[in-house]
Amino acid sequence: MIVGEQKPIEEIKEIVAPYKNILILGCGTCVKTCFAGGEDEVAVLTSALRLAFKKDGHKINIEEHTVERQCEDEFIHEAAEAVARNDATLSLACGAGVQAVARRFVKAPILPGVNTTFMGVLEKQGLFTEECSGCGNCELDIFGAVCPFTRCAKKLLNGPCGGSQEGKCEVNSETDCAWHLIIERLTALGQLDNLRTYISPKNWSPSLSGGPRKLVREDQVI
Ligand code: SF4
Ligand code: SF4
Repeated sequence: MIVGEQKPIEEIKEIVAPYKNILILGCGTCVKTCFAGGEDEVAVLTSALRLAFKKDGHKINIEEHTVERQCEDEFIHEAAEAVARNDATLSLACGAGVQAVARRFVKAPILPGVNTTFMGVLEKQGLFTEECSGCGNCELDIFGAVCPFTRCAKKLLNGPCGGSQEGKCEVNSETDCAWHLIIERLTALGQLDNLRTYISPKNWSPSLSGGPRKLVREDQVI
């Protein structure tokens, strides 16, 4: 899922301050799971903003609404009336959601309320870890399904740097050494021989460094 964090309230206050009527628009998928922008976070932020502006003597009207996914037109559509009723919309979706909503409502200011951070997993309650950099050419089969491009601090492809201690990375002792995990996994799978093959430098051309990417599914195009 996409992991993000709600912006600090002081920053959000500055972003919405020029407007009198604000819609806070939540997203019920990834950002809900990481407690950044689901229905509950919309409600809490709305109350906090109302209080903060009241304290400052600043009059602002805030409406709340949450759709299932802000990155899909089918769901964005449900927010059309609420967006039209307000001077601006503060989106609590990831950056893709904010842009999708802005694309749909071309005359409405759509403002970001979340800092989108990475693609990752919920490791345990309250802990999200980055697992994939969206390189565009997945090679997890070689590495026992542990991504060294994302999870090794030095992005090493042909074995560990030798600095790890007790399974932790020498760059950050709170992070698991990706290569420790890769070797553990390959051992368990009986695929340690994978490491005998030289892995050539990563071809980053399908990654974001080649500019924004597109994925076309011809079989789905109408
Ligand atoms: S190899 Fe690429 S696509 Fe696969 S997990 Fe790593 S960054 Fe993501
Ligand atoms: S300790 Fe492990 S994860 Fe950290 S840089 Fe070295 S090989 Fe990569």
